[in-house]
Formats: sequence, C-alpha cells, structure tokens
Amino acid sequence: MSKQGLLIVVSGPSGAGKGTLCQELLKRNENLCLSVSCTTRAPRPGEQHKVNYFFVDKEAFRQMIEDDQLLEYAQVYDHFYGTPRNYVMDKLEQGQDVILEIDIQGAMQIKQKHPRGILIFVVPPCLSVLKDRLFKRGTDSAETIEKRLRCVCDELSKTGNYDYLVVNDTVEHVVEQVDAIIKAEKCRPLCFDMQKFLDC
Ligand code: 5GP
Repeated sequence: MSKQGLLIVVSGPSGAGKGTLCQELLKRNENLCLSVSCTTRAPRPGEQHKVNYFFVDKEAFRQMIEDDQLLEYAQVYDHFYGTPRNYVMDKLEQGQDVILEIDIQGAMQIKQKHPRGILIFVVPPCLSVLKDRLFKRGTDSAETIEKRLRCVCDELSKTGNYDYLVVNDTVEHVVEQVDAIIKAEKCRPLCFDMQKFLDC
C-alpha cells in the first residue's frame, strides 16, 4: 500500500487568484488533482457542470448532507458549497495529492477532521488590486463585488488558523511559493514511504 497523498486546502478572498493558482499547480504537478465542489449557486457565463462545479439545487445539496456525502460544507455568501467525500478520499488513498479550493469555514472543518491537511491562504498584494481584479473579471454584479469586498477584512483576521499565507503579487511568484510548500511537506518524516523503501 503506497502512502496517502497530501490534502491541500487553498482559501482566500474572491479575486485573490486561487483559481489561476490551482490551474497552474495542476499543470506542474501530475500527481495533483483538484476536487470539484458541489454548489447551489447558478453557473456564471462559461462555467460548466462537473468541470467548475457540480451545480445542484438546494434539495439535492440537503440530501448529500443527510447521506454524509460531503467532507465539509458551508454557506458562503448566499449559497451552499461542499466537497464530495468519496472523490477526495479515493484519490488520497491512491497516493494522489488533492487540492480543495474552499472558504475559511470549510478549511476549519478540514483541519478538525484531517489534522494533516495543509492549509494555505492566498491574499492579493492590497485591497485596491483586489477590487480592480474583481471588476475586471466582470463575472459578478457591482452589488456582489461590494458584498465580497466587505468580507475581506473579516477573512484576513482569521488567517492565523492557516499553516501558510502567500501573497499573490504575480502568478509566477505565488505558484513558486506554493510549489515549494508542497515539496517541503513531502519531506516530512510522516510522508516517508517505508514500505516502498523496503520493497525495492
Ligand atoms: P465562487 O462562487 O466565487 O465560485 O466561490 C465562492 C467561495 O466559495 C470561494 O471562497 C470558494 O473558495 C468557496 N468554495 C468553493 N467551493 C467550496 C466548497 O466545496 N466548500 C467550501 N466550504 N467553500 C467552497
């Protein structure tokens, strides 16, 4: 039996660049996969069912909670989001590393249930850059953006519960930092595959 993969949690304010970061990490690490969450929010233009999210209605989401199919879940803004348990646990068992791009509430649940999970918080270099990114992205209404910006300070005050905080000043730099974190985490004695060592 090979060693379990790493469970990596990436959180940060909307517009911090978590999506781009995760996509770049996936390109560079073939042992890494991204968990696709379930959500009750409507797809944004260009988003695809099963690719960006599993878009489900509230009833289906409630049923998943009841059937214990979610590793964690939370209400974020006005919608529910959750991580499908089986996909993540299967990949970890197979020795693959899994990234969850989830909010702080979900990250805290993961920390409780999986103390070896690695919690990384991504921040933009400053608030005005964040505001700029959200407006330029053009995927949310001005009202939604204002709502999200109001949550930022509250979110930042909770970053002490994370293992790492990285500043997304450029994509290249932030990817390098997270790559380095993953590599360092792989060197923990707990990650050493004794069986593999003995077998070869
Ligand atoms: P968005 O609607 O912009 O895609 O996501 C809104 C927030 O929900 C983001 O902070 C994102 O990280 C978070 N989120 C996405 N999927 C999940 C999930 O499965 N669980 C939790 N707890 N948060 C999630």
